[in-house]
Formats: sequence, C-alpha cells, structure tokens
Amino acid sequence: MDLVLDGTDNLSTRYLLNDFAVERGVPWVYGGVVSAHGLVMAVVPGRGPCLRCLFPEMAPPGTLATCDTAGVLQPAVAAIAALQAGLALRLLAAPEGFEPRLLEVDAWDGDVRALGVERDPACPCCARREFPFLHAPATQRAVSLCGRNTVQVRGTRTKPDLEALERALHGIARALRRDGALLRFEIDGHKVTLFADGRALIEGTDDLGRALALYDRYVGT
Ligand SMILES: [Zn+2]
Repeated sequence: MDLVLDGTDNLSTRYLLNDFAVERGVPWVYGGVVSAHGLVMAVVPGRGPCLRCLFPEMAPPGTLATCDTAGVLQPAVAAIAALQAGLALRLLAAPEGFEPRLLEVDAWDGDVRALGVERDPACPCCARREFPFLHAPATQRAVSLCGRNTVQVRGTRTKPDLEALERALHGIARALRRDGALLRFEIDGHKVTLFADGRALIEGTDDLGRALALYDRYVGT
C-alpha cells in the first residue's frame, strides 16, 4: 500500500487512519464534509503536519455538527472527494516538491481557500509518536454511520462461514445472495451486508442495540 484515501465518515476511524499512516510512514489524504463545508489535506509523514497537529484531540461527542444534525450537501461531498482524488494522484505520480496545505471548501457560497499549515513540534502523533487509536482495544462493536441510517457491527470472535449462513438463511431472509466475500440479505425490514471478516452493515436503523440484536440473532456471536 502506497497511499491511504480517507473514505470514512467516522471521527475515531479518521484518527485511527492518521495513527496508522504516520506510524508506517504512508501518505494519506484526509477529507471531511458536514453541511456545505469541507476540508481536505494530504498528510505526508515527515514532510508536513498530520491530522493531530491541526486537531490534537477528538471533540467530545455531541459538540460538533454532524451529517445527522446538520445534514450534508451532496455537491460538497463530490467536491471534496474530487480534490482528495486529485491530491492522491499527485502524490502517487509526482510526490517531490509537494507542499501540504489545508483546503477549505464552501460549496454553498462557492468559496475555496488554501491555508498554509505547519507541523506541531509537540504533536502527540507525528512528534511524540504515540498512537493510541492504533493500539486501543477494540471495545465498541457497533457504530452508527453518519447520515446513512446504517449501523456497522463487528463480529466477536470467529469469522462467519458465509456458505453455511447462506444455507441457514435460505427461506428466512429475502433477496439472499452471495457475491464472493459478501453475503447480502434482507430481514425484519433491514438490508444486511455481511463481510468475510464478520463485519456487517445493517441498513434502516441508527439504533445500535437493535442492530446488535439483529446481528446476534441471524449471524451469531
Ligand atoms: Zn502531527
């Protein structure tokens, strides 16, 4: 892997990506959007700031606007994704001489600003090389995906046997189909996508408890 492109909409996953990229010395391209506002920055370890140089700590839950509370403007997502892809191509094709900057986009007013950014010499991540997100125990099994009415659930111990599950769910689940390493089905009014590593996306709810119950009932723990 030569580069990581941020496609997450989950803050703790983004800090995890930053820890991973800085520890391994792999560039990554941060992109985030809420409402009509977005930020993009390429993190090139050793050459510029990392995410935690700019935002040292994660904001406490509920203190920032999210796609759920403020909504998200689709053209802003498209603009940020396009800028991320452009920076990724630049870093892959011609990394020399690249100067990381923070791009701020307002898709409502049509503003784009490029801000100079500096490394924080006291940054816990790229200066002190502490990677708490990378080495934190995986405790939370279910997370709600911002603005999608979908919950992601992780399996507990063992990888599921997709073939056996497909047989078990035959006649119970609707729209049951297996695509290689994915098993998709609809059950109790929810669409479920189960991955080979045991992770599942459960659509049609933001309720973590309901999603966990559905997972444990039909996939098992
Ligand atoms: Zn840093």
